[in-house]
Amino acid sequence: MPSPAPGATDPARIHADRAAGTLTIAWRDGHETVYPTITLRWLCPCAYCRGEAGLPGWLDSAPSLTDDQVRLVDIALVGQYAVAPTWGDGHHTGFYTFTSLREMCPCAQCTADRAATGTPTLGAANHSGHELGGTR
Ligand SMILES: [Zn+2]
Ligand SMILES: [Zn+2]
Repeated sequence: MPSPAPGATDPARIHADRAAGTLTIAWRDGHETVYPTITLRWLCPCAYCRGEAGLPGWLDSAPSLTDDQVRLVDIALVGQYAVAPTWGDGHHTGFYTFTSLREMCPCAQCTADRAATGTPTLGAANHSGHELGGTR
């Protein structure tokens, strides 16, 4: 794994655009990540969505998400290391670390970089990986 550039996982600006349905993060290394909120919702790293102790989570059952469930209502900073979105259905237990948000950046450049290094990319049919759940 190449080590990330300085500031690569350090957000300079976080902007939730509820009308557009996106979350934009500008990183201190100059990169910008735009997450469609539905993508973000699918990535929810909480124990309920992802499962724990080897058990599948709710998202592993490939539910069809309702409008409420992908509607970003609010987003809170968790210390210096993560954000916790609140969704239209009241779900708010997912802490998305900046490191994981940068690692999962869905932009063309990062997707190509991950493909080059063999790192799984977003949009794979199954998302049974627990990449986001490893925060200690
Ligand atoms: Zn969740
Ligand atoms: Zn990117």
